[in-house]
Amino acid sequence: MKYYSLNNPQLVTSFKEAAIQGIAEDKGLYFPIEIPRLDKAFFDNIHQLSKDEIAYQVISPFVGNEIAEEELREIVRETLAFDFPVEPLDKDVYTLELFHGPTLAFKDVGAGFMSRCLRSFVRGKKEKVTILVATSGDTGGAVAYGFYDVEGIEVVILYPKGKVSSIQEKQLTTLGKNIKAIEVEGSFDDCQAMVKRAFLDKELQECHLTSANSINVARWLPQMFYYFLMYKELQHLNKPLVVSVPSGNFGNICAGILAQKMGLPISHFIAATNANDTIPRFFSSKAYAPKQTIETISNAMDVSDPSNFVRILELFAKNAEELGKDLSSYSFTDEATLGIIEEQYLKNGYLLDPHGAVGYLGIKKYTEETNSDFTGVFLGTAHPVKFPECIEKLLQIEIPIPEGLKDIMQGEKRSTVINDYEELKRVLLK
Ligand SMILES: *Cc1c(COP(=O)(O)O)cnc(C)c1O
Repeated sequence: MKYYSLNNPQLVTSFKEAAIQGIAEDKGLYFPIEIPRLDKAFFDNIHQLSKDEIAYQVISPFVGNEIAEEELREIVRETLAFDFPVEPLDKDVYTLELFHGPTLAFKDVGAGFMSRCLRSFVRGKKEKVTILVATSGDTGGAVAYGFYDVEGIEVVILYPKGKVSSIQEKQLTTLGKNIKAIEVEGSFDDCQAMVKRAFLDKELQECHLTSANSINVARWLPQMFYYFLMYKELQHLNKPLVVSVPSGNFGNICAGILAQKMGLPISHFIAATNANDTIPRFFSSKAYAPKQTIETISNAMDVSDPSNFVRILELFAKNAEELGKDLSSYSFTDEATLGIIEEQYLKNGYLLDPHGAVGYLGIKKYTEETNSDFTGVFLGTAHPVKFPECIEKLLQIEIPIPEGLKDIMQGEKRSTVINDYEELKRVLLK
């Protein structure tokens, strides 16, 4: 498969080069030159296929022969080596739990796949590749775990100082070895702006920088896997599927829409956001007007200028009317988010994390607006234990820390604090 830059359709490259470069040299995000359709037989037989087989069928046209079949199958198998349960909550409402991977958030899938692809691509190369990544909380941990101790790869993670949860911070700062954490005095959007600038900085060419944000195709595309796995579980219900995705940078939902374009029968998407409501406002006013980022309890979605929205527009040939048929977007306050966490805990004994909770609010709102009969699924993007601060206060309970996280909570934090881009450059050139 070839990929073109969204800034210039003439600028075309391979999957391998797109994964290594992260972003095109003209700052454009890469986009596949065609969207393959899976045939009817695939969907008719999906209940008989293993999750590894489903994922392999989905991703192989996007990789082509740039990774040998056997190795790609192995990458997929390792990436998906945990569970993706679909849990019923209320009548016609389900949650797809995406938090059973190593860092307890959905980003383990994209980061796990991407790191294994890059490992394969840099094998035997002389120069080191540096992964430079901005995180609003969960990307950094997933990338750190994905690339930990991988030969030939350095990882530099930028995160907004004081704006990630304590477990998230531990996951970023305690591993050491080839993983370096940098605290930025600013917001996630500031971190992301620095990363974008660094990629275009000629003086940093010697660092061979690449990104591991969802702008990287190798991280973005595998996020399609679990939409197919969810369909496998719910297709027998024979009702239209409406999927609500708690959204920040819009990579996850964009992967879901791409899956739909490949033929996956999802009837409608909901992009549920917190107070950072650039996209819900875009739907009402047709103007894309990011504001200053607002801090919320669903911090991994504190993004006001979502990078992947241009890909979503591309998927609909920039036709806002067509887009509106398949996608709705709503913004929710922290108060409403805490309200549904409490309600679900008391009613169903189910503990939502603040991001999944925003997803659930999306289903509720869509139900109220359309009054139609459908199966609603929202993505549970992180384990509630990653956000104990607000949940424990609200519900007066203690969330037990899963066994796998106990060691990390003991680990010592190591990080560098920076104020501006020049300081980042000094760190990278050291
Ligand atoms: C990153 C993240 C999101 C937002 O995903 P995008 O792909 O950036 O829209 C939602 N929830 C959690 C828990 C996350 O870590």
